[in-house]
Amino acid sequence: MLKNLFPYEYVESVFTIDYKKLYELGFRGIIFDLDNTLVPHGANSTDEVDLLIKQIQNIGFKLYILSDNGKKRIERFLTNINCPYIDNANKPNPYNFLKAVSEMKLKTENTIYIGDQIFTDILGANRSKIPNILVKYIGYYDNKKIGIKRHIEKIILKIYSKSKKYKNRIGNIEIKEEIKNEQ
Ligand SMILES: [Mg+2]
Repeated sequence: MLKNLFPYEYVESVFTIDYKKLYELGFRGIIFDLDNTLVPHGANSTDEVDLLIKQIQNIGFKLYILSDNGKKRIERFLTNINCPYIDNANKPNPYNFLKAVSEMKLKTENTIYIGDQIFTDILGANRSKIPNILVKYIGYYDNKKIGIKRHIEKIILKIYSKSKKYKNRIGNIEIKEEIKNEQ
């Protein structure tokens, strides 16, 4: 029901997450959505994102990309990144969420899913029982017209923001200073 639409955490961006803290908490794998989570829809990776991914891997995390986009688009994004992926993932169907977890040889409870959409990313992760983090979609602060789905997401997030039971279920994993400047 509605609780399946609530993320464990809701943060500014992939750059404000404290990945070391996640590791300390026992998480060992991260599954990322691609478009509007790591880069704008269809965009190539950037030096900042390439560095972020390397830093996360250096902490000791296994990574996976799970995208509804096609193989060519994902491989273009992964030009400088060494990371397995599943294309045409058919989110929110749990099948490929669980496949990514099992290919990393991990359990759902020590994997984190990170994405920007409630009805695909968060719903799919919750159905798969993978703890998850919603990030503000890239372009959130642009004054562009948003579609009906984003309006509904805003309503759900308003309800979520008042729910003590479902908010901050991982706990204190956002940092103010961006990790991207660290070596
Ligand atoms: Mg996305």
